[in-house]
Amino acid sequence: LLSADGSLGVTIFEEMTTLAMSTGAINLGQGFPDEDGPAEIKAAAQAAITAGANQYAPGKGIPELREAIAAHQERFYRLTPDPQTEVIVTTGATEAIAAALLAFIEPGDEVLTFEPFYDSYGAIIGLAGAKHVTAPLLAPDFLPDVDAMESAFSERTKVVLLNNPHNPTGAVFPREVLERVVELARKYDALILSDEVYEHLTFGVLHLPVAGIPGAAERTVTISSAGKTFSFTGWKIGWLSGPAHLVAAIRTVKQFLSYSSGTPFQSAIAVGLALPDEFYTGIASTLQHKRDILAEGLRAAGFGVYTPQGTYFINVDTEPLGIDDSVDLARRLPGLVGVAAIPVPVFCHAEGAERTRSLLRFAFCKKTEVLEEAAARLATLR
Ligand code: PMP
Ligand code: GLN
Repeated sequence: LLSADGSLGVTIFEEMTTLAMSTGAINLGQGFPDEDGPAEIKAAAQAAITAGANQYAPGKGIPELREAIAAHQERFYRLTPDPQTEVIVTTGATEAIAAALLAFIEPGDEVLTFEPFYDSYGAIIGLAGAKHVTAPLLAPDFLPDVDAMESAFSERTKVVLLNNPHNPTGAVFPREVLERVVELARKYDALILSDEVYEHLTFGVLHLPVAGIPGAAERTVTISSAGKTFSFTGWKIGWLSGPAHLVAAIRTVKQFLSYSSGTPFQSAIAVGLALPDEFYTGIASTLQHKRDILAEGLRAAGFGVYTPQGTYFINVDTEPLGIDDSVDLARRLPGLVGVAAIPVPVFCHAEGAERTRSLLRFAFCKKTEVLEEAAARLATLR
């Protein structure tokens, strides 16, 4: 978390997970599933370890995984990146974001994100010495205010950093929004960096990669990760794709961040990416069911609930309970009722923090009985 004085503290995820553990609270804060992903992916990692895939992988990732990433993009989006030159494997999406921003921005450049924004964006933009400009996503649907977005662009905008489906709000951007972003990026000659780690976690709406919008591909780098799609957040296998010259620049930076990424996990994720379509529709419908259980529980507990179209997260308004400081509430909630959550203002600069001061984010990527128990505990708040 980049605090107001510019210093880097402990991330909100670490803070809330530590608090959940010390109080024994149900952790609906940090977004990670409480069940492992598919057995065949786990078995593939175990087999790779047994077969001796335990030394450094090539810096850009093992060929099978780069080919599987390209094949997955063709299957779902009809995009055809060249696995030799237009795809690299990274240590989670986190490294992809850092390496791409460090590759593209110079001190004094501007990076535009929507607000609230995922915490690592602000930290890396700050570390790179760039200026972080934001455009708000407003309740109830958290879709961009297109006029505000337009006025946030300037001649110095070097990168537009999109996150779709969006963490923390759960918004999924429709085609018109993406078209507008592409039009503005072209007008101001900005690169588009698109974090799509929740690409398969949408509920009744289709995810559209911005790289597929006409005019976008030549200036877009798309980031994703195995953590969310396959429920192996601890393996830290991510990737990115885009035009060869942009990918080459990012790879140069990646060499000096991690050099390469976990070898046996790479071959296992290649197996995951080739799973049949039913796996992908299955994870989305399972998660949609979990969303509905938690949304119902939160409504019954008296929160104002914003039902998301994607991701792991539901945002609620605490105002109906007479509470207007979600940061304070999040710190007290584990002790009060035994549930941990993440306050939305921490994903904002000062003005956005004021606007979102009564918003709280709950993760629903948990077993249904855990969600039901959490809802029962939250119902005792009023
Ligand atoms: N971007 C977003 C929007 C996220 O929510 C997360 C957390 N999964 C990441 C990036 C980081 O992904 P990874 O764990 O693969 O580094
Ligand atoms: N992406 C996860 C979330 O938003 C957390 C990842 C992390 O702990 N850095 O909850």
